Amino acid sequence: MAIVAFDRVAKSYGATPALHDLSFDVGAGEIFGLLGPNGAGKSTLIRILMDIIRPNAGDVRLFGEHRRRDHLDRLGYLPEERGLYTKLTVVDVMTYFGALKGLTRADARGRALVWLEKVELPQVATWKIERLSKGMGQKVQIAATLLSDPEVCVLDEPTTGLDPVNVRLVQDLLLERRAAGRTTILSTHQMNQVETLCDRVALLDKGRLMVYGTVDEVRRRYSQPEVLVHARGVLPDVAQAAAPAKIVAENGSWRVTLRDGSEPSALLRALVAAGAEIDRFEPMLAPMEEIFLRVVKEGRS
Ligand code: ADP
Repeated sequence: MAIVAFDRVAKSYGATPALHDLSFDVGAGEIFGLLGPNGAGKSTLIRILMDIIRPNAGDVRLFGEHRRRDHLDRLGYLPEERGLYTKLTVVDVMTYFGALKGLTRADARGRALVWLEKVELPQVATWKIERLSKGMGQKVQIAATLLSDPEVCVLDEPTTGLDPVNVRLVQDLLLERRAAGRTTILSTHQMNQVETLCDRVALLDKGRLMVYGTVDEVRRRYSQPEVLVHARGVLPDVAQAAAPAKIVAENGSWRVTLRDGSEPSALLRALVAAGAEIDRFEPMLAPMEEIFLRVVKEGRS
């Protein structure tokens, strides 16, 4: 089910067009990657979704209905520009965030303490915000955004600047949200994260939708039909019989280029039937980063 739907959304700032007739859906329970180079229109789209700015045309539907003000309690948003009230204590700021989303202060405070444990910062509850390091501040803000357990949450570059341990921690929180059926829209330039986390993606460029689909689908669409085969001993002649376009030996394995329309599974079946001892059989998918660069470059030429 589409939990967020953009239908022919258009926006210009004066004479500068930012979004052209943009239409796509985000499904309930998915981690959805919102991708695109700087200036592509991602922030504009997010601001329209959060009702911070209005589109010139088009429609946003939330939870299967026309977007209404009271839907906003069910949304969370971690903007790219982050700032917290530096003189207040961490727990007070988090309580305030929860109360903004309709929680009672007692509930919000309780959740704030639970979430500080979850982001491994229980000791900072009574600290003033100004005492937090940058990474700590970022985790506190993520926790403050997620503590109301929003049905849909938009996170703009949540892990930038975090060390690998904390990146993993935040990724695990997003996977936990997905397991609980919550929807996350992740705007990021970190393509490895898109490959690890996202179910589907939309890649915008110059306000237009360039690529849209599941990460696997998209990676397959942009890939050469290649398979990396690790086999003990020599790859049987059957690899030739299965008629790939090309076989190249590479660091103790074989890179097999399939003919158009031929499936990796057919090659695997033929190899196994011929008694090949295969350790690894890996259809090669184009990395998201390469797809991003290719699409954006083609758009420029
Ligand atoms: P992204 O978030 O993908 O970097 P933006 O939505 O910020 O892209 O920007 C899309 C386009 O709209 C860019 O050309 C940008 O210069 C322009 N733009 C964004 N905000 C404003 C604004 N407040 N006034 C004028 N132009 C803007």
